[in-house]
Parts: sequence; structure tokens; C-alpha cells
Amino acid sequence: MTTAWKTSARVYWCPDCNVPLLAPKCSLCNGLGVKAHGSPPKDFRPALDYDFKVLREAIEREFGSKAYEVLVSSEVVLFNKIPYVDQANEVIVDGWVMGNLYYSPDKGVWRFRPSYEGAARLVAEEAAPYVEVLRSEVRLWDELSRSEFKGGSLPNSGKYVILIDSKSMAIGVAVSLDGGKLKVVKVWEAQRPHVKGKRSNWEVAVKANEHHLEAEERRAEALITRAIKSRDVFVSYSGGKDSLATLLLALKCLGDAPLLFNDTGIEAPATVEHVWRVADRFGLELVYASAGDAFWKSLPVYGPPARDYRWCCKVCKLVPIAKAVKERFQEEVYTILGQRKYESFARLKAPTIERSRWIPNLVSVSPIRDWSALHVWLYLMRARVEFNPLYKEGFDRIGCWLCPACELAEFERVKELYPDLWSKWEESALSWCRERGLPPEWFKLGLWRWRKLPREAKKFASKMGVDASKIEERLASLKDVEVLLTVRPCEDLYEAQGSMRAPPDLTKAATMLKCTGGVVAVNEKLGLLTLKMDEGVASLNRNGSFSIRAEDAYELKRAVEVFVKSLLRAKYCNSCGSCKNWCPTGSIVVEQEVEVRDSCLGCRTCILTCPVATYMYKFSTNVIGDEVEE
Ligand code: SF4
Ligand code: SF4
Ligand SMILES: [Zn+2]
Repeated sequence: MTTAWKTSARVYWCPDCNVPLLAPKCSLCNGLGVKAHGSPPKDFRPALDYDFKVLREAIEREFGSKAYEVLVSSEVVLFNKIPYVDQANEVIVDGWVMGNLYYSPDKGVWRFRPSYEGAARLVAEEAAPYVEVLRSEVRLWDELSRSEFKGGSLPNSGKYVILIDSKSMAIGVAVSLDGGKLKVVKVWEAQRPHVKGKRSNWEVAVKANEHHLEAEERRAEALITRAIKSRDVFVSYSGGKDSLATLLLALKCLGDAPLLFNDTGIEAPATVEHVWRVADRFGLELVYASAGDAFWKSLPVYGPPARDYRWCCKVCKLVPIAKAVKERFQEEVYTILGQRKYESFARLKAPTIERSRWIPNLVSVSPIRDWSALHVWLYLMRARVEFNPLYKEGFDRIGCWLCPACELAEFERVKELYPDLWSKWEESALSWCRERGLPPEWFKLGLWRWRKLPREAKKFASKMGVDASKIEERLASLKDVEVLLTVRPCEDLYEAQGSMRAPPDLTKAATMLKCTGGVVAVNEKLGLLTLKMDEGVASLNRNGSFSIRAEDAYELKRAVEVFVKSLLRAKYCNSCGSCKNWCPTGSIVVEQEVEVRDSCLGCRTCILTCPVATYMYKFSTNVIGDEVEE
């Protein structure tokens, strides 16, 4: 949650035009910019309509209306995402961080805490409460009693007060406590405010970046032209700003290309409408991949998805995309993708051109990999193109509206904009909790977003009076399969004993076990299934108990994994079709149930690519004795 970025976008500020610059030289006044302030990776974005509303409310709630006018003195305001327990942004005006706008999840409100520049400006214009500290030194977390500061009437308990020294320079921020005390929450070297910039706007910002935008555009176009040549291609279109910029670039150099949009079934309606509008506006073929109701069908099986348990990505994204690509493009195909390195650590490592690990015959090209969000926004503003309206509604990321990667602040906005969708989600998730004995707070406080709660989430739970360790215990007890690995050295035998709650019937299990490449036999009379595979032999009783034997620990572990995964597929298959897509011999038929034809080679690709096998094994299987030596 707090991992630091070692790389950062280079952003400058033109002091004359008072706008951000992507390169040191301003294209408008030819002057040289200075470095813009902000925390790495400086993936700045412009504050848009709803952002201004939230910012104004938060500042005014804290300090009154004059404070907003003092701090937000230009139309050109940047937000810079920073690590915090929920959503938080640095607010940048005139190239300086004025403070942090953050969502307080326990109170359910947005708050604003000024930085040294913001505090210095507020003090200079008498626009916020401040007190003079009488001590010679103040440190972070100090508590100041009434005799240790003077001046100003203190705001209500919990609100911010600026600290100044004897020369009226801002030196920190404190929180007002009951009983007239203050708690120091930020300290810095004494600060005077810098000169306020002139009022500016985004049209000026676009002009000030014209040369750089042109150069970046040429570079990206050259990459697309070189990579695509005359190959089959489509543009991956998510409805977000990055894919829109990518689409504009692709159309400039290719003239025409189909769009592929994947409807996960949990897209915001505004996004789906926007995608159709874009396809229509540019007259493009829209390849519409769709997960249908796969999310809602899978939810009772997997439970709510989590940051460390993202079954939804496979079920609602990879499977339908792979299907649509396979149907529309028979041979190898290239996709132009709006992926950027500043979005996440995973994307930082991804190369510009990459063969997909997940979708057969697909190669992705990311022409804006090195662009920052500010590049993208300036490029879109320059093109005067209509973007997804959700950006103006307070979302800085477009995607599934219940994504576990979202912060609580984003969910609050979803509830306001789409109350019916949220109710459907809440009811389904709460009923899953009820059936498994989990407290409703697990859902309501957003703790469902992790299967293994991180420290910050545990702290938040305890602040809200919820015992996180009980939740963890309950989650751990929800296993479907228990396996004990043992070794009998005298017999040179490695064995696993296990059991599965409510096992599938033996014929269904036999169908899935065929894909292990082993020989399966079912004796209905005895209620017994036997399997001989390369790694060892296994048997399964109708009541769910099973045993597996192998010659060494390595083989045993492999056998256990493939055997249990096959049983889980038999029990939980929801006909998603991933196995059918990947099977190299076309041996799988997916209708109400999965059928495996005799042409099956036993290559196990279907087990590897089955979401049920992957995620239910991770969530629902408990293997004890894993330390059995190999
Ligand atoms: S992917 Fe196809 S050939 Fe391979 S094991 Fe599964 S059904 Fe058999
Ligand atoms: S067995 Fe095939 S159809 Fe069933 S869940 Fe797994 S991949 Fe999907
Ligand atoms: Zn300039």
C-alpha cells in the first residue's frame, strides 16, 4: 500500500503562463519551466467538475469559503494520487502542492489538510485559523497545552489549525483536541508563501505543450506503424482516457481499425453508452466481447472478488476476450493497447510489445506506455474529443464499478450514481456472508477487498469496532477440501489423505479427471473411482474421502494439485468456456455440463486455464504437511 515509486514522470511548470509543462521549454512563451512539485510517480491529472465540488466542500468545511478562493486561484488544478488508507490526492496549483485532499473512511467525508505552501498562503491572507507556538521547538505528534500557544479562536475538536512562529511564518499543522489542546500532525521549516500565479486555463496549457505533444504523437505513431505493418489489428477500447488517446493515434496512422470492447457485465452504464458513441462517431466496427452474467453466476461460488483473489479478471475479462478474439480473428492478431507504466508496478515492468500470456495468438503494442496521465489529458484536450463522462463525475479510473481495487470513496460515488446496481451487489454479497457466518461489516466496511487483510485494513476494522482476527478465522474455516500429506520412510511411500465436502458425483469427477491424462475407472457399485496417472495413483470414495500415492514428494504434490483441481472443476464448473477456448484438440464441449471427447490428449491445458481450478484451489483447499521433503 505504501511502496514508494522509484521512477517519476518529469513535469515542469511555466511561471509566466502558469500551466504544467511536459518538457522544460514552454511552447507558448518560449520561457523555461521550473520543476513542478508533487510526490512520485507524478502521474498528475487535471481536476474536473466533481473534483472541484469535493475540493471546495472539503476546504470550506475545514476553514471557510475564503480559504478556497485563496488556495484554488486557477482553473488549472492538478490531482496527484498518493498512498493512504483510502483515496487521497495532492492538490497542485501554481506548480505547488497546496495540501492533501483525502477521504476519511471512518467519518465518510472528504477532508483537506494544507501543506507548507497552502498553509503559508492561508496565513498570509488570514483565511484559516492559526495560532502562534510559544515553544522553541515543535515536533510531530507533540501535544500543545493552552499555555504553549497564543492567538486565534480554536475550531471545533478534530479540525485543523495552522501553526506559526513568532515571525508569523507557517511551521506546521495541528488538530484541535477537546479541552483546548492541540496535537501536531505536520511540521516543516518556517515558510513564507510564494507569489501567486496568474489565473490560467487548460487551453493555455495545451498551447504551452504543443511542440512536445506533437513530438510524442510522432513517436507513438512511428511505433504503431513499425509494429503493425500490414498485420491484422484491433484497438482494445475500455472506455477510459488512455484507450481513447490510443485510438486517436491508431486512427491517425492506420486510418481504420476495429475496436474491441469487453463488457464485463459490471461496467457502468455510462461507459457502455460512451463506447457505442465512440464507435459510431468514428464509424468503426465494434467487436463486442461480453461476459454476460458470468459475474453474478460465479459470485455464489467464489464469493466477492478481492485484490488477492481476482477471479473476476479471468472470468469476466480474459475468457470473453479470448473467445471474441478467437471468433473474429483466426490467425495471429495485434492489439493496440492504452497501457501506461505509471499506472502500477506491474505495468512499469511490461514491455512496449508483448505476446499475451493469456490469450492465444495475441500480441499487444502499447504506444503510450511512457506517457503520464497529464500527457494523455493534454492530448485529448488538444484533439477536443469527447471522453467518458464519468471522469467529470469524480472517477479517475474507468472499469468495473465494484472492482476490489477501488477505494471506499469511489464506492460512495457509485452508490450515488447507480443506487440500483449497488443494492443488487450489496444484497448478493451480504447473502454470501450470511450463508458463511461472516459478519455484515465484512462487506459494509469494504474488508471484502482482501482475503488476507493488510495491516491498514485491520487497523481500520478495529477503529470501527470489528475484530479482524475473527473474520480471518472464519474465512480460513471455509475450506472445501482438506488434504494431509504424509511420508512413510520405511515403506518409501508418499501419501496424501483427504476429503471433500459435498463431492461431485463420480461420473462428473471422472470426466474432469480424464484431462489429467490418466486412466480413470468408476465402480458405481462400490462407490469408488480410481485414477492412474504419471505422478501416482488416486482413489475417491462417493462420500468425498480420497487418497493419493506417489513415489516422491514432488510427484505427490503435483498429483494432489491436479487431482483436487479436477474435483473442484467437477463440483463448481459454471460453463464459462475457458477450457474449450484453450483446448488444442477441440476435445471439450461446454453446454449445461462439460463433456471431454476421446480425442483428449491429456495435456492439462484446460486445468491450467480453468478459473474454478485456479481460484477454488487457492481459496477452498487446505493442504497440511506441505513441508514434506522433496
Ligand atoms: S486441453 Fe483438451 S486435450 Fe488438453 S487435457 Fe484438456 S481436453 Fe484434453
Ligand atoms: S471446467 Fe471449463 S467451463 Fe467449467 S469453469 Fe472450468 S474452464 Fe470454465
Ligand atoms: Zn509559458
